[in-house]
Amino acid sequence: MAETFEAFVITRDEETKQQSGGWTTVSTDDLPEGDVTIRVRHTTMNYKDALAITGKSPVVRRFPMVPGIDIAGEVTASDSPDFAVGDEVIMNGWGVGEVHWGGYAQYARMKSDWLLKKPAGLSGADCMAIGTAGYTAALCVQRLLDAGLTPEAGPVLVTGANGGVGSFSVALLAAMGFTVAASTGRPEEADYLKSLGATEIVDRNTLSDKGRPLDKELYAGAVDSVGSTTLANVLSKMKYDGTVAACGLAQGFDLPATVMPFILRGVTLAGVDSVMAPKARREAAWALLDQHLDRAKLAEITQEADLKDVADIAPKLIDGKIRGRLLFKVD
Ligand code: NDP
Repeated sequence: MAETFEAFVITRDEETKQQSGGWTTVSTDDLPEGDVTIRVRHTTMNYKDALAITGKSPVVRRFPMVPGIDIAGEVTASDSPDFAVGDEVIMNGWGVGEVHWGGYAQYARMKSDWLLKKPAGLSGADCMAIGTAGYTAALCVQRLLDAGLTPEAGPVLVTGANGGVGSFSVALLAAMGFTVAASTGRPEEADYLKSLGATEIVDRNTLSDKGRPLDKELYAGAVDSVGSTTLANVLSKMKYDGTVAACGLAQGFDLPATVMPFILRGVTLAGVDSVMAPKARREAAWALLDQHLDRAKLAEITQEADLKDVADIAPKLIDGKIRGRLLFKVD
């Protein structure tokens, strides 16, 4: 039988093309197609969610839309042999919150292929505090490990270190025994980065302007969430056989680089996408987080907020006024 519940729904006026959002009562009959229905227990807010809510960027491509690209909850109905009622599940990406209703609601309906069983050592709340930012960091670290990177090979550079992906990358790599250099434009946050495990703070201005095609060999690996000239400079500072996992474009989506690091030092540029990543890669990333992420550090960077306030919180997140990770309990 259909049940009614509250959802944050974004609509668009087709004449003015203006979008607006607010809390509305909807029914389980309104949920999109899928073989598993979930009672959402926790969600979070990523930059992409904030863009969807504010409409600052055309993230939402189908209206009406419920935002929320990360979900943790329990299965309430399932037509899939892989999930039973009561299973605790998590979901990140897959276009949810963009073209398929997401987590800012008490219920969500998903394709079972998109769901993962919640990692045993993490609570649903932990998983949402980690969210797409932490999961993407883990995908990046996994790419470095797959390339054979070991702590003995040398230091690893993380760019955009104070950001979501950057902070989790620093914490994970340090917990795994790597020496981590953290590049940031916020030197006043050096203590925070050191508390996450960074041993060296690099001024991001030293990476943001055009540099040499080949520079001094400093790093055995890197996680880059910045792109553009920064990524070009990171490549030129790689040691022989170094690997760079690239996932972001905080500086820009261009890449004004040369082939020199590739052809003279055997450097690898490994791309990372979290949205469409296959299930096995997701499971490996979450297993890495479960095994290595320091829960006390996770608690330190997480702040609980009220889901009812998402419309007020989103512009603050876009303006960089929110530090750390937001966790919403879905009551
Ligand atoms: P945040 O906004 O939390 O962090 C981005 C960080 O980048 C900032 O904190 C800042 O770090 C740094 N930065 C910002 N502007 C500039 C600039 N002009 N030049 C150099 N550095 C800059 O974002 P996230 O960590 O959530 O995401 C990081 C990037 O990764 C984004 O581009 C995002 O779109 C992308 N992303 C990609 C995913 C994928 O699937 N490939 C998934 C998730 C995110 P600091 O203050 O330390 O300098």
